[in-house]
Amino acid sequence: MRQQGMATAVTTPPSLPPCDHRPRPYAGPTKAEVLALRRHYVNPAIFTYYKQPLMIVEGKMQYLYDETGRRYLDGFGGIVTVSVGHCHPRIVAAVNRQNETLQHTTTIYLNPAIAEYARDLAARMPAGLEVCYFTNSGSEANDLAILMARVFTGNYDVIALRNCYHGGSMLSMGLTSHHTWKFNVPQGGGVHHAVCPDRYRGPWGYDDERAGEKYAADIADLVRFGTPGRVAAFIAESIQGVGGAVVLPNGYLKAAYEHTRSAGGLCIADEVQAGFTRTGSHWWGFETQGVVPDIVTMAKGIGNGAAMGAVVTTPEIARALTERIHFNTFGGNPVACTAGRTVLEVIDSDGIQANAAGIGARLRIGLDRLAAKHDLIGDVRGLGLMLGVELVKDRSTKEPARDEAARVLETCRDLGLLLGKGGLFGNVLRIKPPMCLSEADADFVVAVLDEALARA
Ligand code: PMP
Repeated sequence: MRQQGMATAVTTPPSLPPCDHRPRPYAGPTKAEVLALRRHYVNPAIFTYYKQPLMIVEGKMQYLYDETGRRYLDGFGGIVTVSVGHCHPRIVAAVNRQNETLQHTTTIYLNPAIAEYARDLAARMPAGLEVCYFTNSGSEANDLAILMARVFTGNYDVIALRNCYHGGSMLSMGLTSHHTWKFNVPQGGGVHHAVCPDRYRGPWGYDDERAGEKYAADIADLVRFGTPGRVAAFIAESIQGVGGAVVLPNGYLKAAYEHTRSAGGLCIADEVQAGFTRTGSHWWGFETQGVVPDIVTMAKGIGNGAAMGAVVTTPEIARALTERIHFNTFGGNPVACTAGRTVLEVIDSDGIQANAAGIGARLRIGLDRLAAKHDLIGDVRGLGLMLGVELVKDRSTKEPARDEAARVLETCRDLGLLLGKGGLFGNVLRIKPPMCLSEADADFVVAVLDEALARA
């Protein structure tokens, strides 16, 4: 039982852990000028966080700096993309070297960057998943994965999960399952959404040991009732990201994959957010479920900020794409591949996985402590450094506390901490920092949240 308590604001605001880095004096256009330019020249669909948008002009590892030189702890990592640290010196050096040597030719000529990177990425995958196709984004990677699955199996129907996010291209928008991201245009042909295995809100909770297989049974139902009995693929994030750090129950993917494979489908793991050791326990999120997918899609943290994605699969499935011409101008670009390859090296050399585990555990303990103190917290969940704190107005009705979440985000920003939000109602705080976070940073996150929750 969580202790119910009245929380009050503390008096001294928490201070950021010390840091040696001094940002360069900023000499560019003012924030007001940038805002005016953006309002005029950049599509208004491209939104900003916060009532007063924040301008960020420099980054160093887990910290970001605004135009005045004020430092913030980046608890959201460029939306789970800066995996090992902003402007990580080793990656900057490698990318600069590549930029000065060769920037682009496309894949019509041989170059070592793509070949060696593909080899090194495959070395981090389960045996058999060893053929890479590089893209520029996660949406493209998911489009391509579905294309491969459809061509390979000869089937059309695809099963995704409710509350998932797989991208904003026409095909991946169809996979995505939040009405807020779906435009009223033809999308999602052949896509069916299975019940989300959300143990906080769904019928089978955290204490149900068989929740995984119970939720997965809906996939067999969908195959029977919504498809010709055959499917091309089942796709799922290993931890739902945009949906608010929803962790799949044990046994879920195992059962889901069995249902999919018995309907002739391939199993696709979307590792765009959960991959690259973010769970702390494994390189890939699907490994926490003890399964091996047929296709894995990646993006975001793959390049620590370089615009890239990848689809990794078996040689047999990869061959499906040779039925027609398939080409991607920037995919496999030597600069992006150099960034990606160096990210792999840095994850190993900087002990990133162990840090995600250790700091993630420390954060989790702190967040659980906050849950015992603040009634606003309905659920704390996640793995490693992919954590979510779901805010509710009332713990029994679980009514989403959307406005409170927005207020918490604003206060955190005022106190020097940048977080994300997610979930259909925007009531889940998302903590997904660069994985170089320190213990002192983790304690700062908890202290700031404590204060923000008290004020909310
Ligand atoms: N898959 C997941 C799990 C994602 O979180 C995202 C982006 N939020 C995507 C795919 C799409 O990636 P991108 O924005 O690079 O197209």
